[in-house]
Amino acid sequence: MDFSLRTYDRLLGTVVGAGYRVLTLRRAIREAAVEFPFILRHDVEWNLKRTLAVTDIEKRHNIRSSLYFRVDTRVYDLPTMARLQEEGFEIGYHFNTLDRCRGDFAAAIALFEREVQQLRDAGLTIDTVIQHGDPRVKKTGYLTNGDILIHDPGLLARNGILDVATGLDERYPNHIYVRDLGVRWDKAESGRQLVEYIRNKRWPAIYMLTHPDYWSESFIRACGLQVAARILRGLSLNRKIAAIKSWCAPRPSGQHPHS
Ligand SMILES: [Zn+2]
Repeated sequence: MDFSLRTYDRLLGTVVGAGYRVLTLRRAIREAAVEFPFILRHDVEWNLKRTLAVTDIEKRHNIRSSLYFRVDTRVYDLPTMARLQEEGFEIGYHFNTLDRCRGDFAAAIALFEREVQQLRDAGLTIDTVIQHGDPRVKKTGYLTNGDILIHDPGLLARNGILDVATGLDERYPNHIYVRDLGVRWDKAESGRQLVEYIRNKRWPAIYMLTHPDYWSESFIRACGLQVAARILRGLSLNRKIAAIKSWCAPRPSGQHPHS
């Protein structure tokens, strides 16, 4: 099954076996370009347990990835982030301050700066940040959470943060961006095909994003999520992702986690 942890384990085995060099975003941007880079990123939305299952597999392969943590869900767990950093993972900030400030740019920028500082105060080295996209949040006056970077072009530099998009394009201009969007690979028909592509080194530079929330220990959950994604295929991509996200997200009080 494509999004089971066993498949992830196999996928990483193929990455390493094919001779790719796995990098965090920080290393990819800061260090000299390498041959066959495999830049590995996870957006950590709701579930710490699934994230740790992913990092455990990576440690077994001697791989370290970049993990972008939400600060407004239950994954905001500073001791765990510090431990992962200690183990060599890169911890980054997964920001959605425009959503949370309902499109108020000044408030969203101030909150962004405050939260970066909070993470640093906890001993975390925050060199990179990634915006969170949530199609369920109604956006008034902006398109994405990343719009604060357009509105305030000095925001990253002022806060000592590397510009991921520009940095990657400079270092690896021909990289291919592979994502598990909506519990489906966007650059391959299946996990098996993706593994084949990697084994055959179809792409000389890969930047992969996964969401640990979509990956399952149990075969049944992995099947269920994928079947649901297939049923929803008729919907627009955004609506499909929204539906899957609300299925993955815990709702203890019957309320949306960031409403
Ligand atoms: Zn996200």
